Amino acid sequence: MVQSTKEPYKEQISHNISLFKKIIYGLCPSCASISIFKYYIKLLGVCPNCGYVINLDKIGDGAAWFTMLITSIIVAVGVYILETIFQPDLWVHITIWFPVIFILSFLIIRPFKILLLCISNKSNR
Ligand SMILES: [Zn+2]
Repeated sequence: MVQSTKEPYKEQISHNISLFKKIIYGLCPSCASISIFKYYIKLLGVCPNCGYVINLDKIGDGAAWFTMLITSIIVAVGVYILETIFQPDLWVHITIWFPVIFILSFLIIRPFKILLLCISNKSNR
């Protein structure tokens, strides 16, 4: 009997797609059938579908840390490029970069919360 070597690779791809869907839609790390967000970034305490206890102590400030890291890199590069090319006044920087910081932070923190919950859920198995 010849064993196919493609099966584990195929399984790996489907797992990655599943993780991607969990991150995009904010699905439960355990059952992946329902969103675990109460509000945009506020998490529920327990998954209403499978009873998975969402323990925020596992991820700590990880999501906020990654959000600040990515946002600060993007804004620092943007400020550098804007300043070297156009040399605008300070009020231009303030009116551009404060909204960018808030928008990027709200966009980035939600996927990182789910990603870190998925990683902590997988490491406990
Ligand atoms: Zn669940």
